[in-house]
Amino acid sequence: MSAIPPVTLDPGHGGIDGGATADGILEKDLNLAITRETAKRLEAKGLKVALTRDSDIALDPTSYANDLRRRRQIAATNRSWAFISIHVNSIGDSSVRGTLVLYPEGSGSERETAKALAEALHEALEADFPNRPHRIQVSDIPHLIESRVPAVLVEVGFLSNPEERRMLTNHLYQEGLAETLAQAVRDFWQKQQSKAKATG
Ligand SMILES: [Zn+2]
Repeated sequence: MSAIPPVTLDPGHGGIDGGATADGILEKDLNLAITRETAKRLEAKGLKVALTRDSDIALDPTSYANDLRRRRQIAATNRSWAFISIHVNSIGDSSVRGTLVLYPEGSGSERETAKALAEALHEALEADFPNRPHRIQVSDIPHLIESRVPAVLVEVGFLSNPEERRMLTNHLYQEGLAETLAQAVRDFWQKQQSKAKATG
């Protein structure tokens, strides 16, 4: 039996880089909590999971670009079938809320897989959290287009929106989000597996 490839989950920011902040809450802490919860649930569903960080550290404190490169390298080195970065959004207008899933522009099988995974995550968020806005967008950010494995980035809510900020710091809400993400990733993985089998 060949080794099962992992899905690499990437909690955004960490260490000296707190990410977005509001009301004394740091994005990096929410990202880590939600990612850990998602990882736990994926493992319980039988998937192999790798994390770019599992504590409050920067992967490369010399620069943000180097830090992101290091994260992409982890996903490539462990031969992940997908690379999923988890972030919390922030914007000047505090009325803006909801989720955003990004996938890389361009063509090729990695990009197609990334787009399909992004759509699966977006649809799951829409189904499970029907009373908030959900967006999906193609993106040219280096973190996605320079990834050698299918990469998506999920912004799970807005720290700048008081209501979502309260929800995102709630452990039960974090668990709900994690379950939605984990189920979508598991279903997507199973679909990929049966497609691979069907085409030999
Ligand atoms: Zn972020």
